[in-house]
Amino acid sequence: MYRAIVLDKTDAGVQARVQELDEEGLPPGDVTVRVDYSTLNYKDGLAITGRAPVVRRYPMVPGVDLAGTVEASEHPRWRPGDRVILNGWGVGEDHPGGLAQKARLRGDWLVPLPEAFTPRQAMAIGTAGYTAMLCVMALEEKGLDPAQGEVLVTGASGGVGSLAVALLAGRGYTVVASTGRMAEADHLKALGAAEVMDRAALAEPPVKPLGKARWAGAVDTVGSHTLAHVLATTRYGGSVAACGLAQGMDLPTTVAPFILRGVSLLGVDSVQAPLERRETAWRRLARELDPDKLEAVTTEVALAQVIPLAERILAGQVRGRTVVDVN
Ligand code: NDP
Repeated sequence: MYRAIVLDKTDAGVQARVQELDEEGLPPGDVTVRVDYSTLNYKDGLAITGRAPVVRRYPMVPGVDLAGTVEASEHPRWRPGDRVILNGWGVGEDHPGGLAQKARLRGDWLVPLPEAFTPRQAMAIGTAGYTAMLCVMALEEKGLDPAQGEVLVTGASGGVGSLAVALLAGRGYTVVASTGRMAEADHLKALGAAEVMDRAALAEPPVKPLGKARWAGAVDTVGSHTLAHVLATTRYGGSVAACGLAQGMDLPTTVAPFILRGVSLLGVDSVQAPLERRETAWRRLARELDPDKLEAVTTEVALAQVIPLAERILAGQVRGRTVVDVN
């Protein structure tokens, strides 16, 4: 038997509770993993509350991330005792996920745990930190370098945002952190932000087609009016990596930034990213992420504490990253 958060859909909506499950009920897969840590991402908040149709069948174990140890494997790449990470691939959405003590998965989905990290650190990074690195990679592949000027991070006190601030600052960029929680300004500066701005300046309509050009690049975790404002204020030839929708899925922009300033909007997806790109992102995280900064953004909780936190992450009330000790 093992413990897991289980989501069920009833007439009253989605119900989440911690349950004991029988290993015989594990789904098909060629690798069985004993989970050490999981984490709470924004998407897990959507799944647990049922606020958006993230989960495609019930009952479902949520959790898009896990770090653990291979217990049994019929996959050529993995042997019992190997330490692995799983991010995305629909796990926690249509395949039982990481907020559990055990998971059965496809070996093709797994990435080796970098030696630099403990399983707990890997989950402090989680999909959020790996996505922050995918954003940095996308911007740099488009030609961004620290000499070009200020780089904006929106939703900076959240998971993707705070790790994007730390990663960019670590690479020498001048980072401006946009947040709705100005009380977190000192914390964001300690992560490396050169300046902290109130997100109200970016969040409200109307958005002019073009504004004063400021950003050489940006990581946007928020979408909606915020992303539209960011595009309108990005400098000639600059790029914006868009990965999130914390404000909304809409994008009320015009073509002006693209056709008059040559601005690039770079879409970033972590869920279906190919294995090679994931491994590159994790290798770079192992080299570039300051472990002290990672610890400074991390809070640890137990499995049962995740359920009430789901509402709070959607309300923008969770700071940084939350690791979950599933044992
Ligand atoms: P968090 O909740 O940790 O961070 C989101 C942050 O956005 C909040 O902390 C808050 O930051 C800000 N925010 C929240 N609500 C609003 C609002 N109404 N208007 C403006 N800003 C708001 O979530 P994550 O970091 O886990 O994820 C961030 C986003 O990225 C989510 O939308 C998530 O779905 C997406 N995502 C996408 C991935 C992909 O593959 N494309 C992978 C991972 C995440 P502050 O208080 O500082 O303003």
